[in-house]
Amino acid sequence: MSWWAIDHTHDVNARCWVDGADGHPNFPVQNLPLGLFADGHGGPRAGVAIGGFVLDLAGVLEAGLLPGLEHLEEFTRERLNELLALGAEVRRELRHALFALLTDETQREVTEPFLVQHTVVDMYLPCEVGDYTDFYAGIYHAMKVGSLFRPDNPLLPNYKYVPIGYHGRASSVVLTGTPVKRPLGQLPGGDTPCFGPTERLDLELEIGVWVGPGNALGTPVSIAEAHEHIAGFCLLNDWSARDVQGWEYQPLGPFLAKNFMTTVSPWIVTPEAMAPFRGPAFARAEGDPAPLPYLADADDQAHGGLSLELGVWLQTKAMRDADLPEHRLSGGSSQALYWTVQQMLAHHTVGGCNLQAGDLFGTGTISGAEVGEEGSLLELTSGGKTPLVLPNGETRTFLQAGDRLRISAEARRAGFATIGFGDCIGEVID
Ligand code: MN
Repeated sequence: MSWWAIDHTHDVNARCWVDGADGHPNFPVQNLPLGLFADGHGGPRAGVAIGGFVLDLAGVLEAGLLPGLEHLEEFTRERLNELLALGAEVRRELRHALFALLTDETQREVTEPFLVQHTVVDMYLPCEVGDYTDFYAGIYHAMKVGSLFRPDNPLLPNYKYVPIGYHGRASSVVLTGTPVKRPLGQLPGGDTPCFGPTERLDLELEIGVWVGPGNALGTPVSIAEAHEHIAGFCLLNDWSARDVQGWEYQPLGPFLAKNFMTTVSPWIVTPEAMAPFRGPAFARAEGDPAPLPYLADADDQAHGGLSLELGVWLQTKAMRDADLPEHRLSGGSSQALYWTVQQMLAHHTVGGCNLQAGDLFGTGTISGAEVGEEGSLLELTSGGKTPLVLPNGETRTFLQAGDRLRISAEARRAGFATIGFGDCIGEVID
């Protein structure tokens, strides 16, 4: 079966017996993302989001409600690294069994005890993140940011050959809701830097990629096989201190400007759930080089892209105090990624680097080509020169204490159920 195959689990007419699941904006039965939760009874364990509930996956496996999959129960405690390592075939079997359980009314009575209201559970990072890598594949972001620094030469010549990236910091990857403490650092001053809290705290709207089965040291993953190593997707906010970044980034790239925190959404949206929302890789402009052979695969070019509608939402403290809703600042589409996630993974390993289950990638900030599609404040405010005016009259260049920033991703396609990625939120504290 092809890795972008659509089957009965994507049927828009499927009906789920869980109250409120049908038509749920994030988690209808066509999504079934995996996460790690606890509800006061026992430690963190695997769950599946369905409507406004979490289905205790460990519990239904133990109770024998997913026939033939009982052996998966041992992979559902404390962390999901081992479950992700099992790969696509197991993941598809699990999806099909969950779909059958949740659409069969006769299973309702025995299954309902394993449903917990989403609002009363604690979510955990789904995996122990061994390594985190951040790419730079949003080409319009790269061009806009490049043009702020190099108006005549926004894209460096390697961009269309190399999926640019750097090794990030795994220990500071946190879950949605974790407060964002304004970092201290060296800030560019006159002749010498000064030291203090960043004055240019920014977000980066990215898609996160969870690695499934790893590869052995010295054994690259081919572009044709790269999809087998991807276990799913989430939202990822790569918080950035732009003043620190500007001073420190040459010659070796980002360091303290990025390593203070990276926020992810709790749910792993599987490649199977994303099957209807795949499409061609980025359409390269006339004159752009073709990907080198190790990054070129016909299936990846035809089906390797992701189609997600993205959003950046801000609620300041003053807005919250006045009961004003969050305001949508901007948002584009993941189709602005110049490289597919499979190309990122193949490139990451081509020199022999070994990936491990539970490793995390960020795609790089995703901005569209148009005004209003920016994935960072750096772009929205032209490097801090043009403040945003919010509906209540407040202005912003970069984030202030009390600002609650949310990023969102939704997959929509005519004839299919819309699925969403859930929350990826951080509130700034000084
Ligand atoms: Mn980034």
